[in-house]
Amino acid sequence: MRLLVVEDEEDLVNALRVGLVRAGYAVDVAYDAAEADEKLHVNAYDLILLDLNLPGGDGFEICRSVRRSSRAQSVRILMVTARDRLDDRVRGLDEGADDYLVKPFAFPELLARVRALLRRDGPSGTAVIQVGALRLDTARVEAFHGNRPLNLTPKEFGVLHYLMTRPGNVVSAEELLEHVWDEHTDPFTNTVRVTVGTLRRKLQVDGLIETVIGKGYRLREDR
Ligand code: CA
Repeated sequence: MRLLVVEDEEDLVNALRVGLVRAGYAVDVAYDAAEADEKLHVNAYDLILLDLNLPGGDGFEICRSVRRSSRAQSVRILMVTARDRLDDRVRGLDEGADDYLVKPFAFPELLARVRALLRRDGPSGTAVIQVGALRLDTARVEAFHGNRPLNLTPKEFGVLHYLMTRPGNVVSAEELLEHVWDEHTDPFTNTVRVTVGTLRRKLQVDGLIETVIGKGYRLREDR
């Protein structure tokens, strides 16, 4: 899953980036409203962490423009801000935020809110996703096939997580690149193919991740 952190406090950005990458997410950063706007036009995000007081504009405006655009309508928005007044919180939710967290916050709570928002339309109501014999614990960042732990790299974990939220559906390599890798990835790279290859070897189950020629990959639910 790919997140956009919109935040102008550099220390907080750095801490968020480290923690979110460790939790298995691809993370891009925008330091002001214009940069956020540009990145939201170019990239596909699953969730935005949105500060409200930003250079060059405020977070409410970004939130409104995201909700107006057809492309990014389904993206989750978590407002993270020092504005703790009741009317700001109410306004944030009314303008289209999915959740609102007041600074200072505890990082485990931010992570739990991110997980909760990302699974809203997903197959599981908890932090654990199960598809056939595959089990993914998004809170502990662990994956299992049956009782066998899978020792996955962050990108292998990200690919499996994305496929497990869409079991039985074909997911293209471009879609995986957009949702599992960050903006520093060369769009012409073969990293998706390589990562799916190493993931398949670790799964040790033939055909669990099918290649659909010319279309992409499909996670089978029956293996
Ligand atoms: Ca700020």
